[in-house]
Amino acid sequence: MRNLQSRIYENTPIFVQNVLTSWNGYRKTRSRYGNLYYSFLIELEKRQYLNEHHAKKYQEQELQRLLRYVTEKSPFYKEFYKNIDIEKIRTVEDLKTLPVLDKEILLHNIQDIYTVTENTAAESGVTYEKGNVLKLLFTKEDVQKKKAFLDFFKKQHGAVNLEMKRASFSSRHIIPDNQPGKIFWRDNYFVRQRIYSSYYCTQENAAAYIEDLEKYKPDFIDGLPSAIYELAKFINRNKLILTFKPVAIFSVAENVLPECRKEIEEAFDCPLRDRYSSSDAAPFVMECVKGRMHYNLYSGVIETTEEGKMIVTSFNNYGTPLIRYDIGDRVEFPEIDAGCECGSVHPVFEKIFAKPFRQPRSVSDGNLSTGYYPDPVHKVQGTLNKFHLFSNKFLLFKEGSGNTWFSSITKKSAID
Ligand SMILES: [Zn+2]
Repeated sequence: MRNLQSRIYENTPIFVQNVLTSWNGYRKTRSRYGNLYYSFLIELEKRQYLNEHHAKKYQEQELQRLLRYVTEKSPFYKEFYKNIDIEKIRTVEDLKTLPVLDKEILLHNIQDIYTVTENTAAESGVTYEKGNVLKLLFTKEDVQKKKAFLDFFKKQHGAVNLEMKRASFSSRHIIPDNQPGKIFWRDNYFVRQRIYSSYYCTQENAAAYIEDLEKYKPDFIDGLPSAIYELAKFINRNKLILTFKPVAIFSVAENVLPECRKEIEEAFDCPLRDRYSSSDAAPFVMECVKGRMHYNLYSGVIETTEEGKMIVTSFNNYGTPLIRYDIGDRVEFPEIDAGCECGSVHPVFEKIFAKPFRQPRSVSDGNLSTGYYPDPVHKVQGTLNKFHLFSNKFLLFKEGSGNTWFSSITKKSAID
């Protein structure tokens, strides 16, 4: 299902691809970094000085706002809460009286949970649940608020997005299969970002990546840790000393194992800052300057059951509201709540046990990320039951329709 835009992109010289990447980036920048983004970023700056009492009060107000919204806008929640007086749910304690939304209920009711349509949603994301690729729809406000949270997180570690030079390791398909030469990156000039393909980031190509990073000298790095780890191993094994030092490296989409963190921090001589990103559905849980994970009260509510199950309610998913959602992961709070040396009012997590992601099986030499979803997954309307990627054909199965779609992706990739 390659569209005309992709075909044009793949058949133009690299400098034109950079212009097209930047143009695409410019369009996204306008919708992601609008007035809401800036006003929310300022609010987050101000709110970091609130004490615990006021922070929790703010969280309650946000919770009440969300509950009012879903009972007005979402057909599913109107029905799900029909015997409940929502006006009486004022606090996080009260929230516990609402029923839990489990994955089965979510999968069967997703169309009624949405408060926007696919055509009116600002963006969509995909999450892998019980063998299904599930689509989450986001409003413009959802998108801009999430960006503000992420940029506020980076700023606390010294990285100012949009102003400082950023190197991103992405699973996006940005390098055409027919490209000669090892130029595995493209530029997004408007946001001062160079996008490196994680797919080709292997030991064989590591030298080419590192040579370009040396020329580009990013102020900070973000992206898939599995790709950055490949470079780190190469740097450490060859005892290379880089001529630039990023302020920090921010991981996305994948779990960071301790050996991976150690190797990356040693190679780039800077801290790696992690965040829990098992799913777009969850509130933000981010690492502080003291290396501990805090759950941000302003982004939602995280409850735990006696068995340690993580039940989440996010304030940033108004397009696909998920309230008291059993996300399938487990979490441990510290036995004694002694706060954190960093002084934050946001609760500390001792440990998060994220569900193991079924590693896609690659039959190629390419580096397939666990967060890898090829473009056609995003482009198909509705929820996909499953997808298989064969040698050069991509099959998508859509719920209820009995139809399949074929798309030629790449000769090199295969997911089963
Ligand atoms: Zn802390």
